[in-house]
Amino acid sequence: MSLTDKLGRAITDLRVSVTDCCNFRCVYCRSANHDNLMLHDELLEWDEYERLVRILVAMGIRKVRVTGGEPLVRPGIEDFIARLKALGVSDLSMTTNGRLVAERCDKLVGAGLNRINVSLDSLQKEKFRRITRTEAFDQVMAGIEAAQASRLRPVKVNAVLVRGLNDDEVEAFAEFARERDLIVRFIEFMPLDADRAWTRESLVPAAEVLQRISDRWPLMPVTHDRSETARKFRFADNRGEIGLIAPVSRPFCGFCSRIRLTADGKLRTCLFSKDDHDLKSVLRSGASEREIGDAIRSIVERKEKGHRINEPDFVPPSRTMVYIGG
Ligand code: SAM
Repeated sequence: MSLTDKLGRAITDLRVSVTDCCNFRCVYCRSANHDNLMLHDELLEWDEYERLVRILVAMGIRKVRVTGGEPLVRPGIEDFIARLKALGVSDLSMTTNGRLVAERCDKLVGAGLNRINVSLDSLQKEKFRRITRTEAFDQVMAGIEAAQASRLRPVKVNAVLVRGLNDDEVEAFAEFARERDLIVRFIEFMPLDADRAWTRESLVPAAEVLQRISDRWPLMPVTHDRSETARKFRFADNRGEIGLIAPVSRPFCGFCSRIRLTADGKLRTCLFSKDDHDLKSVLRSGASEREIGDAIRSIVERKEKGHRINEPDFVPPSRTMVYIGG
């Protein structure tokens, strides 16, 4: 069976946020305020997640990415990964800030995780501290090493570039990709920050990143699936890869295959959806599998055509990234 929206886009990818808690407070994501967390009973329980994902897999979801908040801070995450694997999810990945990866990597691999994305926005310890408001630079670097030494493939490092904050590190990140032979992906800053500081001038367009890197190293385009978020390039000498994720300057909504489940059980059909859809209430009302499936189908059918960031009347969603799950 397949899950398709009214524009004919096949929905095959699910992002599952398992918590809104995070052990980092990145300046472009979360406010410095620690008090804005969901109450415990607002969160979906593991059984509830499993039931929803089972239904979604039967409807055509193939890829599941576990995210948050920081997914590794929720106790029981490894068991949850194992339960997802047992549902037949063929492509199971996680987005993490890397702080706890070195100590948890073996268990995650054992549970069936296939691949990992580690967020890292600076290669300079002092700047990392300013961005994340933590002292965890060494642990994150150790996490990337542990992931590369494990069976997780590929290991991707995601950097959000913010003008004046870390845009001076584009070439350093490219060198990092080459030295470590990994994939570094540059993500455009989106209007999803808690402090509402985003401006068009603060994002670093992917075209600029590509120009700067290709001025230094010859690059070869890598073919990619149309629904993938990143345009990919390998260095011509075959050491390392970069990806450019340009949701603002070059939106990829036309081929979007993603939906998102928030930690409080809301289904979102776009990162920038104005409304989300309360699946937790449907679940807790005693609905049958079929009723839940019908509810999902009718929500997905109405998936937005695009995010509208570049429209004059664009309004950022009321939920910020940490509550949606990036
Ligand atoms: N804690 C995990 C992590 O750090 O990767 C997962 C959640 S985090 C919200 C997921 C991704 O969203 C990270 O790569 C983060 O850099 C990115 N992100 C957060 N706020 C963003 C924003 N305003 N624009 C673009 N990306 C953002």
